Amino acid sequence: MIMDLHNHTNFSYDGKNTPEEIIENAIANGVDVIGITDHQFSIGGRMDEYLKRLAECKSRYSERIKVLAGLEIGTRPRPDDLLTYDIRGIDYVLFESLDDYRAMDFFEFVSWRHRFRCPVGLAHCDIFAMGERYGLDMTEVLKSENMFWELNTSGNYDYYYDFLTNAAKRELVKRSGIGVSIGSDTHSIAEYRPRQIKRANVLAEELGLCLPFEI
Ligand SMILES: [Zn+2]
Repeated sequence: MIMDLHNHTNFSYDGKNTPEEIIENAIANGVDVIGITDHQFSIGGRMDEYLKRLAECKSRYSERIKVLAGLEIGTRPRPDDLLTYDIRGIDYVLFESLDDYRAMDFFEFVSWRHRFRCPVGLAHCDIFAMGERYGLDMTEVLKSENMFWELNTSGNYDYYYDFLTNAAKRELVKRSGIGVSIGSDTHSIAEYRPRQIKRANVLAEELGLCLPFEI
């Protein structure tokens, strides 16, 4: 199974394509499960429209690909605007850049994140660097907090390449039993990197990594 659980559409300020274009491109590239994860601050007051559009896509493409409605949530700083949106139709959320020094405090995040009942993951986050900063084994924290971790194949994050080449880190993640998602972080289908997505999915399968949630 090929998953790609991190994609932006034109509901995001930096997304170039419609949800339908993103989904059809994923189908053409052999993806089995596609997650749309637009930025909550870009969707803003259009949350109802966003959820309705993704619900339509789910049924329209159900024979060809599984579509999930996600959300990517900024943490620099804590996005209190989100508390005013109704996100009950969301399948999962990605919190981005928690390893950034401008991000909200990690321990504050851990208690705040319990407001979200859907599956919660960390997008493009170097959990090993964070672990050093906080003096924690982040895989243990993610496991006990039931959060998954993203392998981001966009090419913009070193931690992913480090994971590809560092056997000790791969072993630690494998043994921890944390869920791992794979995401392309696509903002334009012109820049889609299907080989990287496939490679990460094959690696996850070879290592026997757990799925991020039931998909
Ligand atoms: Zn993103």
